[in-house]
Amino acid sequence: MHICVLGAGIIGVTSAYRLLQDGHDVTLLDARPEAGAGTSLGNGAQLSYSYVAPLADPSVWTHWPHYLFSADSPLTLKPQPDPAQWRWLFKFLGACNAGRVQRTTIELLQLAFYSRDELRQVQQVAPFDFSHRTAGKLVMYTDPAGLASARRQVAFQAQHGCEQEVIDADRCIEIEPALANASRHWAGGVYTPSEEAGDCAQFCLGLVKIMQAQRGFRFLPSTTITQVKMNDGAIRSVQAGADRISIDADAFVLALGAESATFARQAGFTLPLYPLKGYSITVPLDDAGAQAAAPQVSITDIAKKIVYARLGNRLRVAGRVELVGMDKRIPQRAIDELTDGANELFPGSIGAGNAARLSPWAGFRPATPSGVPIIGASPVRNLYLNIGHGALGWTLACGSAAMLAAQIGDRKTAIDDAPFRYAR
Ligand SMILES: Cc1cc2nc3c(=O)[nH]c(=O)nc-3n(C[C@H](O)[C@H](O)[C@H](O)COP(=O)(O)OP(=O)(O)OC[C@H]3O[C@@H](n4cnc5c(N)ncnc54)[C@H](O)[C@@H]3O)c2cc1C
Repeated sequence: MHICVLGAGIIGVTSAYRLLQDGHDVTLLDARPEAGAGTSLGNGAQLSYSYVAPLADPSVWTHWPHYLFSADSPLTLKPQPDPAQWRWLFKFLGACNAGRVQRTTIELLQLAFYSRDELRQVQQVAPFDFSHRTAGKLVMYTDPAGLASARRQVAFQAQHGCEQEVIDADRCIEIEPALANASRHWAGGVYTPSEEAGDCAQFCLGLVKIMQAQRGFRFLPSTTITQVKMNDGAIRSVQAGADRISIDADAFVLALGAESATFARQAGFTLPLYPLKGYSITVPLDDAGAQAAAPQVSITDIAKKIVYARLGNRLRVAGRVELVGMDKRIPQRAIDELTDGANELFPGSIGAGNAARLSPWAGFRPATPSGVPIIGASPVRNLYLNIGHGALGWTLACGSAAMLAAQIGDRKTAIDDAPFRYAR
């Protein structure tokens, strides 16, 4: 079968790889000149297999009013004259209950562990460098009540295969000595030694290169989809690029990240997706002082909702959640928050000459209200979905791609795919 994968972010690239492995002919296309250059480019770099609890949580009812009205909040909601935003928020609030959160956490843990296994497979078959390490992860709390609630979550997740420990501040600093210089009083942290980190964009580029050496694969960069041609409940072709080339295929995979909802509307159905904007900086650690000041272990600062991941001699710092539509601007305030966070936790990591070399970046997490991605058949006969991975696209990509390939190949999926199916 000839399958056209729409979008070469981490989800489209891994989907293309698995479908090619199954013997299909695959065309992968993207509006940008390279793979992995959208939201997959500057993300937090964490393969966060044990931290999958969704944003939709009962604590939203108590925490969001405070966040929305406090000046230094890591969350922004700008109401838009856009029914999609209100529909999404309504469903999101509907998912903020304890029962739904527990179910979502279990479903996402299963997909995350499956993804870890699948990433291992890719590494075995086609090893290449993407600054990947089993770095371990420390989620740091300043607030004892927050740590107590994390302890309950750790106990719950232990029943579902997670190996995590709640530890005091001294032990956190023993594990990550760079934390000793932080101007912060820690209540303690949650440590997960098995967590990994890696450069998502580097992974996309590496995997595309491997596919380009294989028969049956073609990559069309700088190819923006402009129109969908339908025929009898199926996609006949998509038109793309300045020359309006027509690309036809037996089947299509929708993996356009946060832009997937626009495509779906053109194809005649709706998707419950909303972009959650976030930002990152990438700190070059060029000298020995900066390298020693930066953490080796991945760190989450819960109070500020900022994550830190070491990628060789770079430190990725990411944060914020903004419901502001697809506003692509990068305000200085958002970048200052990240640099201030890094200076506070890891003083000396941003060298004096490096303030202008931080590669400020913004991306849009393609989020469903519950946090569960949608994988599989769509209302359009020959269109499959692999969308809505929100804050976990890098973590969940390899498992999602394998699940999709099994569905398209009419094989039994390795984990239950029912929670991930499209519901009208
Ligand atoms: C600040 C931040 C931090 C994050 N941290 C993490 C993390 O630590 N761990 C983790 O697992 N996840 C993280 N994420 C989430 C993760 O980055 C996303 O879930 C993931 O990148 C989504 O991948 P995707 O392939 O669906 O979308 P994208 O990477 O956005 O890919 C979609 C592609 O579609 C293309 N496209 C769009 N429209 C068109 C069109 N009309 N024609 C042709 N091409 C088109 C785009 O150019 C793009 O390349 C983070 C996200 C953000 C914003």
